[in-house]
Amino acid sequence: MTEADKKQTILVVDDMPANIDILVGLLSDKYRVKAARNGRKALEIARSASPPDLILMDVVMPEMDGYEACRRLKSETDTAAIPVIFVTTLADDEDEEKGLRMGAVDYITKPFRSAIVMARVENHLKLKSYQDLLKEQSNLDGLTGLPNRRAFDELLAQEWRRGARLESPLSLVMLDIDCFKQYNDNYGHIPGDEVLRKVGKALASVGRSHDFVGRYGGEEFVCLLPHTDTGGAANVAAKLQQAVGELQISHEYSQAAEHVSISLGVASVVPQAEGEPVALIEKADAMLYEAKEKGRNRFQCATDGWSLNGNGRH
Ligand code: GH3
Ligand code: MG
Ligand code: MG
Repeated sequence: MTEADKKQTILVVDDMPANIDILVGLLSDKYRVKAARNGRKALEIARSASPPDLILMDVVMPEMDGYEACRRLKSETDTAAIPVIFVTTLADDEDEEKGLRMGAVDYITKPFRSAIVMARVENHLKLKSYQDLLKEQSNLDGLTGLPNRRAFDELLAQEWRRGARLESPLSLVMLDIDCFKQYNDNYGHIPGDEVLRKVGKALASVGRSHDFVGRYGGEEFVCLLPHTDTGGAANVAAKLQQAVGELQISHEYSQAAEHVSISLGVASVVPQAEGEPVALIEKADAMLYEAKEKGRNRFQCATDGWSLNGNGRH
């Protein structure tokens, strides 16, 4: 990671280029700074794949004012955690109260003293990095180091919305280690934990960078594949199965193979905004059950055209 990557990012929103210049001049030594000329553009940047860590927002702007932009940011799950500081000439108590009630963390009136702005920005960014750290840790599974169920649920909801917007297929692979109770019973829980770590690592090594692999719970893992249809997902499932097989972890007590193996269930759908992502989980889970029934150490794909509560396509 380079020095530039470690810098936190601040988004400055103001309709006056001169005001943007002042804040950029003040902040760009220590931080990465992006700029937007109105609330609409600010929302676009905040919703992007690389959102800012802090937003300095003017209030009076054409098209969409700062209050409205802040209200929208705070009402959307993906952007609600980005702290907003209003930087404005509106100096009445009522204006300040309104800004803070909109969910802003701070309110700075113009003209401001540079040192005060810097100090406030530093304080809020420090809090933001603690918040990010806490979030990261609460989203990780302690044993395997993979994202956990909570992280998966969040991402699934997000990818579901994105898939619905782009009318792009979303695939889910649910997988489960075969005869793992037998492994624990015969080799012990500590070696069992080691298997979970190795399997997790092998699974994570498969796929493209925007695919998600996480531990769903126990000896179950999930792989979420955005922009991937049934054929693509079947391909990934085969690779996941192979990657675990190639670990060649001996399992004499398995009824499925001589080594540790997995069974996988695959389902794909083009999400519908009014549909529920849980339908995708249930379908993949049902396919996993079929793979187990058919003898384990294999994957089973849902046939195209399964229905998402009657709303589904694909
Ligand atoms: P199947 O092939 O049908 O999946 O059979 P199975 O034995 O794998 O499934 P079952 O659900 O009966 O047992 C799952 C086992 O996974 C039981 C439990 O001891 C083990 N397990 C779950 N979480 C952990 C863990 O964190 N560490 C260890 N060592 N074992 C775990
Ligand atoms: Mg199992
Ligand atoms: Mg299980």
